[in-house]
Amino acid sequence: MSAIEAIKGTRDILPEEVGYWQRIEQVARDLLNRAAYREIRTPIFEQTELFARGIGEATDVVGKEMYTFIDKGERSVTLRPEGTAGVVRAYIENGLHVKGLQRLWYLGPMFRYENVQAGRQRQFHQLGCEVLGSADPRADVEVIALAMDLLAGLGLKDLRLDLNSVGDPADRQQYRQALVEYLTPYKHALDPDSQNRLNRNPMRILDSKNAETKKIIQDAPKIWDYLAPESRRRFDQVQQQLTDLNIAYTLNPCLVRGLDYYTHTAFEIVAETGLGAQNAVGGGGRYDGLVSELGGPETPAVGWAMGLERLLLLLQQLTSTPVIELDFYVVSRGEQAEAQALQLAQTLRRAGFAVELDLSASAFGKQFKRADRSGAVACLILGDDEAANGTVQLKWLGSGDQEALTQTDLLATVETLRHRLKDSRATMPN
Ligand code: AMP
Repeated sequence: MSAIEAIKGTRDILPEEVGYWQRIEQVARDLLNRAAYREIRTPIFEQTELFARGIGEATDVVGKEMYTFIDKGERSVTLRPEGTAGVVRAYIENGLHVKGLQRLWYLGPMFRYENVQAGRQRQFHQLGCEVLGSADPRADVEVIALAMDLLAGLGLKDLRLDLNSVGDPADRQQYRQALVEYLTPYKHALDPDSQNRLNRNPMRILDSKNAETKKIIQDAPKIWDYLAPESRRRFDQVQQQLTDLNIAYTLNPCLVRGLDYYTHTAFEIVAETGLGAQNAVGGGGRYDGLVSELGGPETPAVGWAMGLERLLLLLQQLTSTPVIELDFYVVSRGEQAEAQALQLAQTLRRAGFAVELDLSASAFGKQFKRADRSGAVACLILGDDEAANGTVQLKWLGSGDQEALTQTDLLATVETLRHRLKDSRATMPN
């Protein structure tokens, strides 16, 4: 029978890689907790309408990339393609808006039917944060600063922060008109996607990757010239506050992002090396229109999402896999010794040590080889003699020194043992 393979665009995260994931999650959790953000977990599938309304029918995500199906109750449901719409739905449905400003974060799998390539999958993971209920430009700057701190906390370098303002809906309406007027005479020179967008979503043409289209865009009107004074002031404040925090940024008038609900601040973080074509690590911005669009009260909001697979690709280029630090590897042979080894391993784990028990019952030589490869600091050895006497051999794997002691003594001197393990680990090669 042929073996069943994983679906195209999905990947297994194997144990060798999981250490990186846990590291990213830990750094993110610590940082976000310290900034008073609280985790929220929303369902992986939602009513299709949530995304159609919340992301916008004219976007690629809704138009082309959603995993949508009819369930057995004849409802149209969709695997979430991003996190914000679900968070906002939960915010409205659970009355979180009544409790005042909410700082939230989430982490989990997202699903988009995209062309698969390096750094672009159909199931991928995003970490995101949202501030709901503040129009203060400091909220924009706070979330950007958190994103930059997270990346710095992971040791990532060569990242560029691109910044823009897409104004409010009124600014955009005027700008859109000017853009369409400018682009229409060039319509036939635009790439086919951009031609389609000319009437549906003309601002998306600004981030076309097509060389010919890019050339035409160079002289296109810029959104900055269409910002009302209040929008302009916000944009200036955000820039000033970023500068005050020593966060470097590059202004990019073509940064419009794919989703319809963004207002004012838009930003993207790009890796200048290490990711190839799919070099956006994350992005976000303000979305003052979304909460009311989804049936809630008018609520200003700002947030971002980062792709974990891309962070992982960068992290792997920098550091070797974080491994679990093992204290003891327990080897045993003989019925009585094997039973005692199980008990000893369990007791040591309860005392807080990291312990791996060899279950092979194979020759001692083979078990010792595995002990050496395990990375443990010390090996505990139980054979027939030790089992009969209630003793155990303690072998320090770094130096090869070995001593015999009673199992009771081993457990009675846990604190001494902890210090000796620490000292011995320090002398071991990495
Ligand atoms: P978006 O929700 O499109 O703004 O994406 C935010 C971030 O999620 C991007 O900057 C990427 O890092 C990541 N991302 C988006 N789509 C994918 C995908 N198909 N595969 C892997 N990462 C993705």
